[in-house]
Amino acid sequence: MRRNRRVKIVATLGPASSAPEMLERLFLAGADVFRINMSHTSPETAHTLVRSIRDVAAKHRCQIGVLCDLQGPKFRLGEFVDGRALVKTGEFFRFDQTGVPGTSQRVSLPHPQIFEAVKPGHMLLIDDGKLRMRVKDVDAKGIVAEVVTGGVLSSRKGISMPDTLLAVSALTDKDRKDLDVSLKLGADWIALSFVQRAEDIIEAKKIIDGRAAVLAKIEKPSAIDDLDDIIAAGDGFMVARGDLGVEMPVERVPGLQKQITRKARAAGKPIVVATQMLESMTSSPMPTRAEVSDVATAVFDGADAIMLSGESAVGQYPTETIEMMNRIAHEVENDPSYDAFVHAIEFPPLPTGADAIAAAAHAISGTVKVAAILCYTATGSTALRVARERPGLPVIGLTPIARTAQRLSLVWGIETVLTSDPEDLADMVRKATRIAFEGGFVKAGQGVVITCGVPLGSPGATNMIRLAFVDEHGLPDGHSPDYVPTGGKVPVERRTPSKIAP
Ligand code: PGA
Ligand code: MN
Repeated sequence: MRRNRRVKIVATLGPASSAPEMLERLFLAGADVFRINMSHTSPETAHTLVRSIRDVAAKHRCQIGVLCDLQGPKFRLGEFVDGRALVKTGEFFRFDQTGVPGTSQRVSLPHPQIFEAVKPGHMLLIDDGKLRMRVKDVDAKGIVAEVVTGGVLSSRKGISMPDTLLAVSALTDKDRKDLDVSLKLGADWIALSFVQRAEDIIEAKKIIDGRAAVLAKIEKPSAIDDLDDIIAAGDGFMVARGDLGVEMPVERVPGLQKQITRKARAAGKPIVVATQMLESMTSSPMPTRAEVSDVATAVFDGADAIMLSGESAVGQYPTETIEMMNRIAHEVENDPSYDAFVHAIEFPPLPTGADAIAAAAHAISGTVKVAAILCYTATGSTALRVARERPGLPVIGLTPIARTAQRLSLVWGIETVLTSDPEDLADMVRKATRIAFEGGFVKAGQGVVITCGVPLGSPGATNMIRLAFVDEHGLPDGHSPDYVPTGGKVPVERRTPSKIAP
């Protein structure tokens, strides 16, 4: 099944989308990666979801990515006596660690780290920033804050401290358990929430130990301050506009979205734009014009993926929302101005063999008319470097490793086909052209560019580029008749995706 779309769609799963038939429908509508939000998903449900996703992928012989999103250090207020309390603008409010149910004067805050890190002048934002307080004083009894914007507080509402650098790692105890579950289930990507600094990613990577790729969610001011190191440390990133727009002035989010997208693209690592993209479709079959424009902007910016949250997890129109996103992406990618926007900033290749080959593949495809770029890739890194070029034609990753293929499902423009390592150079070209031909990427008489590493099958050694034209059997022109097996068919090997641990 071919998508004919460069940008990828990530759909968050939830009650509205978890039934196996629904999952399949969402995949057929355009979802390339499914996100499991570990804040709201039990290990048992996560297990069932991953099994359903792998079943759909196997049935359609496609690669579907699984992204498990860890909750991260999300802080919440304690309970209130009546479940809620009104706090008035201009009054003072106290946070303590007594555990006693709260009133309109005080509440317990069951997070000792906050009391250690918060300083007078810091802002406290409660319930997605609906209520705002400024810290006046911190003493042994707790925190005293002046209410800047009052309102109704209720039990267990989230509290964020944009000015405070907290001495907490990005992984809470719950996250460590959820991470263990996610890795056992064979998640392809692990998302880390509320990353504050590059060390948070490095710490998580030590535990993950290559079993999954790491996506850092950019949603804290401290992450913006440490953005370059974070981009160096992570494998992919998310512009997590929901919390970013709480922790920072909401009007700064569009500029930050551009900046983060640009830096991630320069690094050749996937960037996901998330939250409220088609929010109104949670309860309406049609989006607002502003939402359509927002999705289009991310596509014009060359983001790798666009994400749905509540729209697909709890909304009334999950399938319609994905179809809508798909249609917007198609329209933008076929717009006459698309190429100019995506290439508005050029990211020059790094002085490495892989980048030289990636840039050359792009250049060749602009000089002679070819139909696709095929890259043999073990770790996925060559395919990533080719995708970084944002070439105007399909990039097909060829890999024997299901895990690599599934990870690449998040990346701009890449489709992957599972195939065994070629035996020799002739086999390398023949395999690639036949796969492109059978997949409908290339027709007889058209050319393809193939990149690979010699010696064949050795990871991280891309050093060869081949331009090949395809005959009516899907074989490279000039091939010796010996290469055509009886019947004229070269079997394309496909491996079923890796099994999920129970
Ligand atoms: P969340 O992250 O949905 O897990 O909060 C995305 C965001 O904050 O935008
Ligand atoms: Mn968030």
